[in-house]
Amino acid sequence: MTDRYAVIGNPVAHSRSPQIHAMFARATGQDLVYERLWAPLDGFRAAVDRFRAEGGRGLNVTLPFKLEAHAYADAHTPRAEAAAAVNTLRFDAAGVLGDNTDGVGLVTDIEQRLGVDLRSARVLIAGAGGAARGVLAPLLAAGVSSVTIANRTAPRAHDLAAQSGDARVAGCGYQELDAQRFEIVVNATSIGLDGGAPPLSAPLLGAARLVYDMVYATQPTALMRAALAAGCASVSDGLGMLIEQAAESFLVWRGVRPPTAVVYRALRAALAAEAGPQAEPRG
Ligand code: NAP
Repeated sequence: MTDRYAVIGNPVAHSRSPQIHAMFARATGQDLVYERLWAPLDGFRAAVDRFRAEGGRGLNVTLPFKLEAHAYADAHTPRAEAAAAVNTLRFDAAGVLGDNTDGVGLVTDIEQRLGVDLRSARVLIAGAGGAARGVLAPLLAAGVSSVTIANRTAPRAHDLAAQSGDARVAGCGYQELDAQRFEIVVNATSIGLDGGAPPLSAPLLGAARLVYDMVYATQPTALMRAALAAGCASVSDGLGMLIEQAAESFLVWRGVRPPTAVVYRALRAALAAEAGPQAEPRG
């Protein structure tokens, strides 16, 4: 019987994950189907129970269910434990494994596709939600010299920094960034989904070696445009991260790592073909 996988979220209709995993399955000769699974905001557990009862083998988890997915899992990988959030569930005879592949997706995209060395870099993360939580430990493991987390609700940034237990991590509000400068700026807020950008100054953006927006779109995002206008040499949206985190999930489920460069080129071309005045950012 063909194995079933899905991405569960609310909303989920925009998700590119079915396209990505269909390409991975073709490239690796794996027999599987991958669907979108919409769940009501108060119905995550029931939807996952039903999917499992119907023979589902694994799920990707997107907004707003990553914390509930963490609670649903019987066991966690160390990176899911560090993030306290889960974006990948695997169902097998041993039970439910929860993993978090967002961070390895970001690090792989920055280091391998963009060719930017994270070692010794001063990193700014804008945002202190689930995505920031997921990428923090993998960035630290990649050898960055410091991570500053800036958030609208500053106490959330302080809490996340304290929970990391790593002296290289600090939390603050945007107004405290003042004259600080960073080599890598990562936008892990959801503002970009509405076409906005976090309140980062032009001098801060212009001084960065890379400004990376986790949101992806048919057009450069507002943050990418602001960074380019400020003189930043390298900007990226989050399409590569999306594909790399998916590849890591595929590895967790199927034991084989699919090729990603060809999938990136295909999806980038598909996004470009869709570009138009109605195009909406995605993350
Ligand atoms: P989340 O847990 O809901 O966190 C949202 C964050 O955005 C919080 O830090 C929140 O600040 C901040 N924020 C929202 N609206 C804001 C505003 N108007 N002004 C300032 N800050 C604002 O969401 P998440 O799971 O972390 O996801 C964040 C983004 O990353 C989403 O766009 C998601 O799609 C994207 N993402 C992309 C990938 C990928 O593979 N490319 C993977 C994961 C996530 P407060 O704490 O002050 O509310």
